[in-house]
Amino acid sequence: MDISDVHARLRAFADERDWNQFHTPRNLTLALVGEVGELAELMQWRSDDDVRAFAATDAGREALADELADVFTYLVEVANSLGIDLGAAVHAKIDKNAAKYPVELSRGSNAKYTDLPGGH
Ligand SMILES: [Mg+2]
Repeated sequence: MDISDVHARLRAFADERDWNQFHTPRNLTLALVGEVGELAELMQWRSDDDVRAFAATDAGREALADELADVFTYLVEVANSLGIDLGAAVHAKIDKNAAKYPVELSRGSNAKYTDLPGGH
């Protein structure tokens, strides 16, 4: 998937509806949080096994896919509203995480980087 293609479709969608006036960084971030809540609601009070079973049903898979798409849509829009290249930001953050979590110290461990030897 090319994020720029997604962004182009979202921009056209908003332009056609004159919605850009509402798409401020703050509004988009709050919408993102709301969509994360909708995703979480589908998993709330269910065990991990229950969630996997839900995702294996047609209706469950569609519901989860819809909310994941909503989250991603708003994430792309927040980044764009702030002039941030989301793809570049993701790669840069993976690089930072790789430095914080060296394989030799973190493999098989769930420790936060601050708790790894030499972590800070
Ligand atoms: Mg939603």
